[in-house]
Amino acid sequence: MQAELIFVGTELLLGDILNTNAQYLSRELAALGISVYQQTVVGDNTERLTALVKNAKERSDLLIFTGGLGPTADDLTKETVAAAFGDTLVLDEEELKKLHCYFERRGGEMPENNRKQAMVPQKGGKFINNCGTAPGVYFNEGTKTAVLMPGPPREMKAMFEESVRPMLAAQHGGAIVSTMLHVYGIGESALELQVQDLLEDANPTAALYAKEGEVAVRVTGFAETEEKAAILRDALVMKFHERLGSLIYSEEENGTLESTLVPLLKKNRMRIATAESCTGGLVSQRITSVPGASEVFDYGAVTYACSAKRRAIGVKSASLKKYTAVSSVVAAEMAFGVQKEAKADLGVSVTGYAGPGGDDEAGKPAGTVYVAVSKEHTVWVRRITVARPERSRVRRMASQLALDMARRVVLGLDIDGARKMTRHELADF
Ligand code: ATP
Ligand code: MG
Repeated sequence: MQAELIFVGTELLLGDILNTNAQYLSRELAALGISVYQQTVVGDNTERLTALVKNAKERSDLLIFTGGLGPTADDLTKETVAAAFGDTLVLDEEELKKLHCYFERRGGEMPENNRKQAMVPQKGGKFINNCGTAPGVYFNEGTKTAVLMPGPPREMKAMFEESVRPMLAAQHGGAIVSTMLHVYGIGESALELQVQDLLEDANPTAALYAKEGEVAVRVTGFAETEEKAAILRDALVMKFHERLGSLIYSEEENGTLESTLVPLLKKNRMRIATAESCTGGLVSQRITSVPGASEVFDYGAVTYACSAKRRAIGVKSASLKKYTAVSSVVAAEMAFGVQKEAKADLGVSVTGYAGPGGDDEAGKPAGTVYVAVSKEHTVWVRRITVARPERSRVRRMASQLALDMARRVVLGLDIDGARKMTRHELADF
């Protein structure tokens, strides 16, 4: 099947907004095994859109549009594509009722021009919009299909996941199942090199998604039945596990390090405490964002100043003086200190330079961070230097490392590049 993407919006042409829908849809279609041959951006203009749709319909089987489904006069995608596909739009009572409710809840009357959002194809069909007011629609003519989704990325993605993907998969004559593998501890390009051969197959397929401080891999299989699709997918998932081992931390669709760590602690009946400097509480914030965190977390200290590190969690003055607050010794003392103070099983600490300043003379530029995790009488400390040390990025990267190190300590896994010390050894510094 040959597909093409059409993005409608003068704002896109002017460069006022970035066409992120293009990247998302291209990847998702590739993962479905649908080849995208062309992408076009067109302004909110009926003539040019009509001409484009006519050509696109000749060369492609599937036309996917985003944008121009709203209530205003420049939102004209639905009307234009309906005409090109020989369909007419009719009022959908259910959608109209939803619109009325929407405006009532906001304490107003529905403006008359919103009525056109409730118009749906007579022959084609609609997709429910669970995140906004404009429904999506589709048109069919012969073997050709047009799919229209709203422009706002949040609405578009939700509609794609809930309605469009299943429809495309069904048209493909079968079932599609996928799993998201969440990977921490290897950069996108290094990962790509390591699994290059696994990314080449069309079915099952695997696609990499770079995120800040981690990478996700979507593994998808298609087949006539769900069982067969799952067998294909699982075979490829297995290969990723063989290749990446414990770098894969979750297979949950929306898995995060914190949503992995909290249940893991619970399962192992362990409690964790945090002492944070440059992350300012981000690690504890991430832990407490997970339901059930209260069973594994009850104490997080933000010890920003040296005096706070001394008073609240017993970091030694001598260590601060000799090694400075940004050092492996202080990170280790912070972890042990908070573990003891909270009577927890694990202590996690973060100390570093979030930037823009660092300590270049000491070879610790902005972005230098020490993370420590202690358990009983052992502590593991790692140093990282975050490239492009913008404050929020440094904090995010540091919290990623802290959560992953905690996960590794709970699971008894090695921590690459970590310095391991006992409480006893630390006392001698
Ligand atoms: P609305 O009901 O909000 O008007 P719409 O379906 O008519 O939705 P547009 O008016 O074309 O969509 O775009 C609305 C907003 O959605 C844009 O201002 C922009 O923020 C976002 N948007 C539209 N198209 C894209 C795109 N291709 N990539 C990223 N964002 C987009
Ligand atoms: Mg609009």
